[in-house]
Amino acid sequence: MAKGKPEFDIERCKGCELCIGACPEHILAMTEIYNSQGHRYPECIDPDKCTACTFCAIICPDLVVRVWKYRKETVGEGKK
Ligand code: SF4
Ligand code: SF4
Repeated sequence: MAKGKPEFDIERCKGCELCIGACPEHILAMTEIYNSQGHRYPECIDPDKCTACTFCAIICPDLVVRVWKYRKETVGEGKK
């Protein structure tokens, strides 16, 4: 189950593919679509496997990636 999800500011992407290699879950791939600067950009191809490790965001030199972390489900804990 996904612990978070990456979000890409695609117009900032230069298509270097560093984020692709940085993802330990191998769930990032380059699209076949180009942004307005003529670069392909990444997408998450298996969102359920994202661990929210943020490696993709850390390695990106252009601050394209933001990782959202899901909050733990606490509803019902400690209650009848
Ligand atoms: S946060 Fe981690 S697991 Fe999720 S896409 Fe980025 S590198 Fe992969
Ligand atoms: S590391 Fe950043 S600039 Fe490079 S392909 Fe990934 S999102 Fe684009």
